[in-house]
Order: sequence, then C-alpha cells, then structure tokens
Amino acid sequence: MISKEHIIKRFTGYVTIDTESDPNSKTTPSTEKQWDLANKLAEELKTIGMQDVSIDDNAYIMATLPSNIDYDVPTIGFISHFDTSPDFTGANVNPQIIEAYDGKDIVLNEAENIILSPDYFEDLLLYKGQTLITTDGTTLLGADDKAGICEIVSAMEYLINNPEIKHGKIRVGFTPDEEIGRGAHKFDVEKFGADWAYTMDGSQIGELEYENFNAASAVVTIKGKIVHPGYAKGKMINSMYIATEFINSLPRLETPEHTEDYQGFFHLHDMEGSVEETKLQYIIRDHDKGHFEARKEVMEKLTNELNSQYGMEVISTQIKDQYFNMREKIEPVMHIVDIAEEAMKQLDIKPLIKAIRGGTDGSQLSYMGLPCPNIFAGGHNFHGRYEYVPVESIIKATEVICKIAELTALRNKN
Ligand SMILES: [Zn+2]
Repeated sequence: MISKEHIIKRFTGYVTIDTESDPNSKTTPSTEKQWDLANKLAEELKTIGMQDVSIDDNAYIMATLPSNIDYDVPTIGFISHFDTSPDFTGANVNPQIIEAYDGKDIVLNEAENIILSPDYFEDLLLYKGQTLITTDGTTLLGADDKAGICEIVSAMEYLINNPEIKHGKIRVGFTPDEEIGRGAHKFDVEKFGADWAYTMDGSQIGELEYENFNAASAVVTIKGKIVHPGYAKGKMINSMYIATEFINSLPRLETPEHTEDYQGFFHLHDMEGSVEETKLQYIIRDHDKGHFEARKEVMEKLTNELNSQYGMEVISTQIKDQYFNMREKIEPVMHIVDIAEEAMKQLDIKPLIKAIRGGTDGSQLSYMGLPCPNIFAGGHNFHGRYEYVPVESIIKATEVICKIAELTALRNKN
C-alpha cells in the first residue's frame, strides 16, 4: 500500500518550493525559480530508479520506466506541470494538515479571519473523515499541479517496488509554464516517444476529460474621427458609439455568465476607447467545430456590415485561433479513454466524464501528435488561497496510474 505519510512528505516537499510562472517573461522556463524544483525532480526520478532521466535547456523533464514483460505493448505516458499560477502568490507556502476532517469550517488564518467553509465550498463535504492539505490562507497551495507530479512519481516508485505488477514501457514528462499556456509549446513529442499519454491535471476525484473548447481570440479595432465638439456636426465619428453597436449586435445570452456545459460563447474581456479609436478584445469558445467556425463568421459579417453602413472601413477585426477541441484527436483512439475509465471502476472510483470549459496542455499535445486525455489530480479551488487537496485523492490517482499501466499491458496480451 501507498502510505499517507510518504505522500504528505513528498507533496509538501514540492509545494514549499516556489515555482510561480510569469506571463510577461519571454524565457523558458518563464521564471528562474522553476529550476529549483525541476532539478530536484530530475534527481528524485533517478533516486527512485527511473531510467533515461533527462532535463533539457527549457527545464522539460522526461524519464522512462522500462517494460517488465516480454511481449509488445504500446508505450504510454503521464504528464504534469510543476509551475503554479501567477494569479496568486506561491511564495512561502505553509501547508496545513487537517486529519479526519469533521465537515466543519476550517480556520486557515486566525489573524486575518480566513475560513475555508463548506457553506461556500460544498465539495469539502465529499471528504469528511479524510486528511486534507490546505494553505495557511496567505498563498495558493500548488496542488495544481504538484499533486499530479506527486502521483506520477509515487506511481513509478510503486511499480518499481512491486515488479509483480506487469506493464509495458512508461514515459513520464514534467513541464514548466503550463499556467501561462506554454506548457506544451516546447514539449518534444518525438523524444517523448509515447503512443498516447494522460495529463494528471484535473480536479475532483473521478474526473476524466477528453473534450475541451475550440478557442480563438478576436481584436476589434474601431477608428473614429475627432473634431472640435462645437463644430462637429456631420464630421465627427465617435468610435465608442460604433463599438457599442458592435457589442450589442452579438447575442447577449451567449456570454460566459449565461452559458454552461456544451454551450459556447463570445466573451468581451477588455475594452478601451476614445472618440478617435476603440479596441475590443474578445475570446470565442465552442466545443462544436461547426459552431465555432460560425461564431467567427458572425464577427466577420458584423464587421463588414458596419463598414458598409458607414460607407468606409471604420472597423477591422483580427481573429486568431488559439487551440482546438482534442475530441477530434481522441475519438479515433477511444480505447485510451476506455482504459482510464476501466481503471477507475476497478478502483471503486466513479468516473466523472465531462467536457472541459477551457483548454489543457493535453489538447495542444493531442494536436502535436500525442493523444492526451486529462485525469483528476485531486485538488480543489485552484489558483487561490482556498485551494486544498485530500490525501486520499492523491493516493487514488496514484493507483489509477498503476492500474492504467497494468490494464494496457493486459489488453495487449494474446
Ligand atoms: Zn494545472
């Protein structure tokens, strides 16, 4: 069995090293301090007995657990990221261990009156009686995604120590800068050499995801004409009024605050204007590829319409694709989801299969040739002071990894 103490020690060892990434940096990793944990992880992988441990110039770590059977099995991979979100500070994380959680309020910080309460975070009640790891209320925890790292390392260690569990070749990969959208950018899929992989980067126990948004950004620039307001009749063009027309012509209910599940949206997230020029920044999201393309067309049509209405080019719209729904790449290899689902069922975990309303590194990797669904890592309330993770969920995720390895080998035995 995997011991709780061992998991807690490993996990707290990771989260107390600050690895916050920085979207304004041009380097990889985006922050120098990510090397502190990266180097430590590479050493640890060697210590537990992994082979071919490598860390490249961008701090991407890869390692191999060789097959222990004599027939051919696909190579599978497990991936997680070691940076934490720049949304909230990750410096001086001081993890708190709550044994046998009683289902009541948890005082994270008495001095600042910061309370983690099931009144706001109902999910806490799922973990009554379990051991929770929380913050002290002043930082994020970093279970996103150091829980994932802890699970992968612990699973590899378990498989090494229990050679009676038969498995094929397994690759593990740890990346920097996922939180700033660059985790997959410099991931060498060819070097990784897996037939498929799983990111261990979901939240609640049981989560299994192979669908995400198709995503694009749109920048709408409206040019006006400034004239002295006292003498502006028939001359002034106020770009802010045209911007308002543009905004109001898009469906008001197809916005993030009115949509859920598989419903897509237009999201105006920034707007800056003067008479002379107004800039609108949108993101466009939709799981369905057809609807996604239609949304982009609507914006272009609206642009053309307003231009012809004003008899000149007042608006220009620049749309840029960001990422795509991995479903397209997963469906032809659906057994990789089935294996994960079966692994959970065999471990008495109820699979929660749902579409991600966002993107993952796995979606980018899937389009780079490495099909890559996402599996729960166990944490909740990511990117803030209320982040927590039940130790039992980390252990379960560790077992899921071992079980997937085992089932993949069994499936290919004739
Ligand atoms: Zn993450």
